[in-house]
Amino acid sequence: MRVRFYPCACGHLNVIGSKRELEERAVEGLDQLEELRRPWIDRVPVRCEACGDAVQRILEVGDVWLDAGIVPFSTLGWQNDEVVPGGYGTGAARGLTGADLPDEAYWETWFPADWVSEMREQIRLWFYSQLFMSVVLTGGSPFRRVLGYEKMLDESGREMHGSWGNMIDADDAFARMGADVMRWQYCAQPPNQNLLFGFGPAEEIKGKILRLWNSVRFLVLYGNVDDWRPRLADLATGPDGELGALDRWMVERTRALVSEARQAYEDTLTVNVIRAFEAFVDDLSNWYIRRSRRRFWDGDETALRTLWFALATAIRVIGPVMPFLAEELWQRVVRVAGAPSSVFLAGWPEPGDPDEALLEEIAAVRRVVELGRQARAVANQRQRQPLRKLVVQGASLPAHEAELRDELRVKEVEFGPVDATELRVKPNLPVLGPKLGAALGDIRRALAAGEFEQLPDGGIRVSGHDLGADEVLIETVGRDGWAVASDDGVTVAVETAVDPELELEGRAYDLIHELNTLRRDRGFELTDRVKIVVPERWREVVHRHGEWVAGEVLATELTVGVVGEPQIELA
Ligand SMILES: [Zn+2]
Repeated sequence: MRVRFYPCACGHLNVIGSKRELEERAVEGLDQLEELRRPWIDRVPVRCEACGDAVQRILEVGDVWLDAGIVPFSTLGWQNDEVVPGGYGTGAARGLTGADLPDEAYWETWFPADWVSEMREQIRLWFYSQLFMSVVLTGGSPFRRVLGYEKMLDESGREMHGSWGNMIDADDAFARMGADVMRWQYCAQPPNQNLLFGFGPAEEIKGKILRLWNSVRFLVLYGNVDDWRPRLADLATGPDGELGALDRWMVERTRALVSEARQAYEDTLTVNVIRAFEAFVDDLSNWYIRRSRRRFWDGDETALRTLWFALATAIRVIGPVMPFLAEELWQRVVRVAGAPSSVFLAGWPEPGDPDEALLEEIAAVRRVVELGRQARAVANQRQRQPLRKLVVQGASLPAHEAELRDELRVKEVEFGPVDATELRVKPNLPVLGPKLGAALGDIRRALAAGEFEQLPDGGIRVSGHDLGADEVLIETVGRDGWAVASDDGVTVAVETAVDPELELEGRAYDLIHELNTLRRDRGFELTDRVKIVVPERWREVVHRHGEWVAGEVLATELTVGVVGEPQIELA
């Protein structure tokens, strides 16, 4: 930064206070003055106020942060006494900023800035120098809020250097990962941790964005089957009329997304926007769409309207993070309803406050389903194989019994204590060894044999000794024939035995899966009716479950024949 001091041999120190003053007092050199910087400024001597001699500026420059700190004033034409058409910027800044706010009252509407963001180093540099300048000049802070963040490193956590070959060129990143994925990567970063930037993380993000894309694709696919068209009136608060339980939940879930994302944006914590959005897309695709598949299949108007409302709202919410794709999706699936011509002209959605009790209830259902899957996995039982019974302890959800049966493919759901577990208790040796000495051997044997009693305080009574909860290691395991999983106060047990009837039903699911895969691979339309011949090995499945299987794969005929692999043709 140039220094404005012009000391004269006569003893007077001249200080130039503004560009106008410089122009008035310059002796020469104004015609070559491109910017108020070196080298041009050095060729402009001024006339001494006291003696009239030409005086030279002190040539040394000041700390550049003094310059950077004056940004809120210098770029907005502070205390400039007349409007400069085209803005106040000169030299290199000419044309880049049109800002010129000479009217002090108007200037104050722009000052202080709402928000300033830069990396953490700026606490002692730019943030500080702005604050210093502003406090000196106006007595107040130049910004209302500051977001500092940590470093950007490469995806393995190393600094990026051109000579190390790990530098990523911005244009290359735009071309290969896309601007939206790049923005997502920045926005998903907790600001208190280093950002590990790269093409690997970008691929993961693409996968997440694809889930949203596929949900939109699903809507388009099934909407087109029935020539369905969205209604603009649904955009504000969702479909009216009689909603099913799942639709009601989806509307509330969408409201929750809006309120969580609004809070996150207001906190300028985009990482929380992304977290809320990812959880929402998971609920949308892995619960709402999956649970409603049959209804979409049947062209259910309410399901299509609910899904459209949820997606249109989600697109508005994520627009600031992912502007290009959001706009593309808006044009394709929302604008057609007569909505505003851009997602960025649609404003922030205001669908109302969410019903927290309903959301908590379905979250509990999803937790139970998740635990049920874990339990099945522990028992190495395929998710497709139907099982006999599920017991849920710690969550009473009788209204969702049918959903749980369907999701976890069990015949029966019971809410109540899980007695399918047993306690395994072992001595905590470092504690008990010194305390019990020779008696330890007996106690070990008794614990291993299950000859103990659990005390109300969590301790164990064994062989005449009361042991505290911290003196033993207690583990809950599934009894033979049961698989158990528990988390956060909820315990789920599935009966793992598979009788011949369940086994046959499992094979029917296998056949449905195989035939639907074949339909897709062969390029059949969703609505195509087909005729199918399956090999001899499926005879019993077709005999017992043929009608059901045929319905699931849109077959008008399903027969067993002399073929090596299933044969499929248009009906
Ligand atoms: Zn002088």
